[in-house]
Amino acid sequence: MKKIGRRDFIKKGSVTALAGSSAILLSCSPENKTEGPAVHTRKKYKWRIVTTWAPHFPVLGEGVDQFADWIKEMSEGRLSIQVYGANELVPAFESFEAVRSGVAQMSHGASYYWAGKVPAGQFFSTVPFGMNTQQMNAWLTGGGGLKLWEELYAPFDLIPFPAGNTGMQMGGWFNKMINSISDIQGLKMRIPGLGSKVINKAGGTGLATPGAEIYTNLERGVIDATEWIGPYHDYLKGFHKIARYYYYPGWHEPGTVLELTVNKSAFEGLPNDLQAIIRTAAARLNGQVLAEFNAKNGEYLTKLINEHNVNLQKFPDDVLSAFKNFSEEVIDDLVSSDAKAAKIYESYRNFRKQITGWEEVTTHVYDAAVKA
Ligand code: CA
Repeated sequence: MKKIGRRDFIKKGSVTALAGSSAILLSCSPENKTEGPAVHTRKKYKWRIVTTWAPHFPVLGEGVDQFADWIKEMSEGRLSIQVYGANELVPAFESFEAVRSGVAQMSHGASYYWAGKVPAGQFFSTVPFGMNTQQMNAWLTGGGGLKLWEELYAPFDLIPFPAGNTGMQMGGWFNKMINSISDIQGLKMRIPGLGSKVINKAGGTGLATPGAEIYTNLERGVIDATEWIGPYHDYLKGFHKIARYYYYPGWHEPGTVLELTVNKSAFEGLPNDLQAIIRTAAARLNGQVLAEFNAKNGEYLTKLINEHNVNLQKFPDDVLSAFKNFSEEVIDDLVSSDAKAAKIYESYRNFRKQITGWEEVTTHVYDAAVKA
């Protein structure tokens, strides 16, 4: 028996809802004469979302909690999503596989966590000296980036959505001054992804220490330096208590995109309106996470400086320039060993060139004028 579509229900909803009677419904919907009451169209879906964040992790985990609330509210309870923090259902770095296999229908994380499986995906989170947040949003939404991302994830039966951004990150916490690139030699630094390869090229050791272990490792000297996110999250970790210098800018993560992935068959099995609700909630999360990062980072940078006397340092220009050269080598290595990465990087690079031309006559001169 064919079910009454959601659209049919909406069309006749005002009559049926008031009447509460299948007799009235049938009299108003001649094409569905054999159907039962409208309640059959209100099928409920119970989904799971796994995340790479500790449960209710500030901004990111909290954002996913809200995302589930928005979807519940917009769908009037027809799509409810149970949120799982890292290790509550699956370990953090197994969430990609969990959504592929259907253990969960969704995950929230960042595409660079799957670099081992999908190296080209790193362009959809962040790369050292890559595009900033505003440029990434423009490329993904208006410059064809999202289409390339969808193509990349299609063989895994996953649909990606941009769903948050950390904004520009900080360079990290050090216990010695970085006066020249040779100061990186022998340095053990916690830094994930392609950034760690840059540190290796500079003669240091980049380590992907899990978030929960960074503080103890830095305190005990297992690592000499660490990056994390930005002033708000770094403050919560307490790094200012055990490290002397707080360096900027975060050249290795100039605007990390967070991703929502959805199991393709699960998504396609939803009625159109619930699919639209997921798209809308993802777009809201994308904007909200960035706004919260920026607002909180401004507040906590001031707090770190004024209340905790943090010694803020900018990486010297020649150090940044050396990091940049090593970053280009790291990107070349990635692109020359992976045809998908090469295709995506072509779009990325062309888009960046174009938008930079636009920014040179807008934000660049404006920022300089405001500062003068
Ligand atoms: Ca980071």
